[in-house]
Amino acid sequence: MATVEQRNWAGNLAYGAERVATPASVDELADEVRTAADASTGIRALGTRHCFNRIADTDGLLVSTAGLPAEVAIDAERRVVRTSGGIRYGDLGSQLQHAGWALANLASLPHISIAGAIATGTHGSGDRVGTLSSAVAALELVTAAGERAVLRRGDPDFAGAVVGLGALGVITHVELDIVPTFDIAQTVYERLPMDAVLADLDAVTGAGYSVSMFHSWREPDVVDQAWVKRRADAPGPAPEELLGARAAVRKLDPLGAPDPEHCTEQLGVPGPWIDRLPHFKLGFTPSKGEELQAEFLVPRRHAAAALDAVRGHAASVAPLVYVTEVRTMAADDLWLSPAAGTDAVGIHFTCRQDQPAVEAMVRDLGELLAPFDARPHWGKLFDLAQSAPRMADLYPRWGDFAALRERYDPSGAFRNDFLARLGL
Ligand SMILES: Cc1cc2nc3c(=O)[nH]c(=O)nc-3n(C[C@H](O)[C@H](O)[C@H](O)COP(=O)(O)OP(=O)(O)OC[C@H]3O[C@@H](n4cnc5c(N)ncnc54)[C@H](O)[C@@H]3O)c2cc1C
Repeated sequence: MATVEQRNWAGNLAYGAERVATPASVDELADEVRTAADASTGIRALGTRHCFNRIADTDGLLVSTAGLPAEVAIDAERRVVRTSGGIRYGDLGSQLQHAGWALANLASLPHISIAGAIATGTHGSGDRVGTLSSAVAALELVTAAGERAVLRRGDPDFAGAVVGLGALGVITHVELDIVPTFDIAQTVYERLPMDAVLADLDAVTGAGYSVSMFHSWREPDVVDQAWVKRRADAPGPAPEELLGARAAVRKLDPLGAPDPEHCTEQLGVPGPWIDRLPHFKLGFTPSKGEELQAEFLVPRRHAAAALDAVRGHAASVAPLVYVTEVRTMAADDLWLSPAAGTDAVGIHFTCRQDQPAVEAMVRDLGELLAPFDARPHWGKLFDLAQSAPRMADLYPRWGDFAALRERYDPSGAFRNDFLARLGL
């Protein structure tokens, strides 16, 4: 138990919690939750604190799952791994790799907890690969009553509960789909002409298993880098050129830092999925470190037009943004997923730590991208007042999720200001 000020990873917010509990067993966790709920104390689960907004915040009790035993049990027959919610992808991934298995995808960094990532619809990239949430096969929760609930894919509440925003209870364990391990070779292409990219987005995003495009907006008509992660068993070598852009001959940092030591290996050298799907290595600070992030996810059919709109806005974006990253993801049926019901494209912004200016820019981007049905990333900065009235249009199952939240947590123990302002 701790009472000291607790900050998120980026350091841009201090949690308002009176107490942080780190129970060592599920029984202890259930006692903590039940006692707090009985005393009408607000409760939120805490993962690895990588969200940039107050989604994880409460003025009551933060329950970290980091103290639960780190379980990893592979069921080769069912092709799932059962693991603790608080474990980081990097730690799970190295154990899977050791046993000859893999997850289909990872985010840009392996530092984040599984439960925290899936609760916010965290994603990597890949035209045919879903969000990290879409790999969930089962969830084990402790509800506000201190009771355990198990939800399996196909159960009526499952698709609503996975991207659950921490609103239904504390996830203690998950089952994730696994696949046989595979190798990836990463090639970075420099200086893609933006017009060619917009004319044939599929040519870029389909150039590998997982593709990310990075744009600093210093030259609005040039995409600085495209990171193409090809499966090592894909036919033929990586092409020398992509839409006229040449393959880099030295390792690069997506944010343009001169020393890319913290980045995963490139130059077409194959290696295990766990060392190539993220852009950043586990033992190092990912991304810039001192930064803020925002992201809008648009249905794939709107992607080129939405990107063109951002290009038209480059003059106001460029001074605040280190880099924009564009990634793709396959549709899923999870109610609050960024890819709910549609293939989606994420337009992400890694920004300087000037919160008032970035918040104003994000509000502008929210207006700019609203005609493209842009869904804000649940874990990054967005304007709650601007977004709240749009939720029911953006997510066809929004009303069902509100009812699900009410059913799992009738006393509102897991309800915080963030959820309330969204109307949940
Ligand atoms: C450097 C950096 C890079 C990033 N890269 C990506 C990226 O590539 N793709 C992407 O989509 N996002 C990315 N993100 C965002 C990140 O994935 C999300 O913010 C994610 O939610 C972080 O997980 P966490 O464990 O740190 O969550 P936290 O911030 O700790 O919590 C997030 C939410 O999950 C809930 N939660 C946490 N644990 C549990 C639990 N056990 N049970 C129930 N609810 C729980 C919390 O209550 C809260 O609502 C990045 C963030 C950073 C800082």
